[in-house]
Amino acid sequence: MTDTLTRTRKDDFPGLFTADGAPWHYLDSAATAQKPQAVIDALARAMGEDYATVHRGVYSRSAEMTLGYEAARRKVAAFIGGREEELVFTRGATEAINLVAYCYPDKGRVLLSQLEHHSNIVPWQLAGWQVDVCPLTEDGRIDLDAAEKMLTPEHTMVSFAHVSNVLGSVVDGKRAADLAHSVGAKLLLDGCQSVPRLPVDVAELDCDFYAFSSHKLYGPTGIGALWGRADLLDAMPPWQGGGAMIDAVSFERTTYAPAPQRFEAGTPAIIEAIGFGAACDYVANIGVEAIHAHEAKLVAQTREALRGMNDVTLYGPEDSAGIISFMLQGIHPHDLGTILDEENVAIRAGHHCAQPLMEHYGIPATARASFGIYSSEDDVAALIRGIERTKRIFG
Ligand code: PMP
Repeated sequence: MTDTLTRTRKDDFPGLFTADGAPWHYLDSAATAQKPQAVIDALARAMGEDYATVHRGVYSRSAEMTLGYEAARRKVAAFIGGREEELVFTRGATEAINLVAYCYPDKGRVLLSQLEHHSNIVPWQLAGWQVDVCPLTEDGRIDLDAAEKMLTPEHTMVSFAHVSNVLGSVVDGKRAADLAHSVGAKLLLDGCQSVPRLPVDVAELDCDFYAFSSHKLYGPTGIGALWGRADLLDAMPPWQGGGAMIDAVSFERTTYAPAPQRFEAGTPAIIEAIGFGAACDYVANIGVEAIHAHEAKLVAQTREALRGMNDVTLYGPEDSAGIISFMLQGIHPHDLGTILDEENVAIRAGHHCAQPLMEHYGIPATARASFGIYSSEDDVAALIRGIERTKRIFG
């Protein structure tokens, strides 16, 4: 095997082995990524010898923890080219999108696309936005020519997945921003799948909000981030009330802290934030460009092998980023997933929280293989072997 990125990285991830020490071919990184030992160690330290609360302690351990927590905010912001005062810690991408959907003061029409994850659909519906849906191109990209025709001055928000969690298709974020801005709307990019696999710079993209989750970026669950332009965050009212988000409280009148603290009510996810920062360090040290190139090679190999089987339907564009959806004729993706599991191959089977996209293709589910830093040609070979075995079983 010639894959240096994989060879050096697989041992960093204790989760990549079965209970009896055999390799586990984990092809579900789009759902959640395995954690490197560096992140696990950072979490253990934050929970152990470094642990204390943040922002209020007068004792030195708390002051140090506060520095660590705020350093994590700087790392996460810098990871996407943003500034710390623009970075709100949330529970994840889902909460980040909910925050904008509920708090953005100019609730008008929002343009979404046919391929969105439910977490970029339901919050807008719940918060009372008028939702319009941009169609897809033949090869499964958000059709920005159609978006251009659909956008009107009534639209105050456009919210697109930067990378589709089902198809891996990448939207041209800068063009989407230009289109949104041309009618006076803002652009939110759901960066859940892009941040782990594409270099992201919010200034270059010229977007207004960017949402993502730590656990898909090799960090812990329970934390994510909303990056927003400072002037937009400042214009948004608080969301949840409680400690840490205030300036001064009285029964007559309460005033609020500036962003980002205004949106972080209560004791924050201190340990998780430290782990999120450690994950950014780990990934930045490898380089997202290298990860992107590595995953692109594995995608090309997998697509080619699947195309060689004439009873496979492939979804999404050729240059999908790290994620491939497919169907075997006459075999339900759940059956495929179950048989692959017997071979220590883990894929995702289902609607991937994107039911409108399944409806678009007229199917209930797809099988999805998705890659990460640690994925290898061996994993691809195990997947293909498993698919061939499944086909033999189903005759
Ligand atoms: N958007 C996309 C594109 C996703 O893939 C996911 C997670 N599958 C989410 C949003 C939601 O992320 P989380 O569950 O971490 O909040």
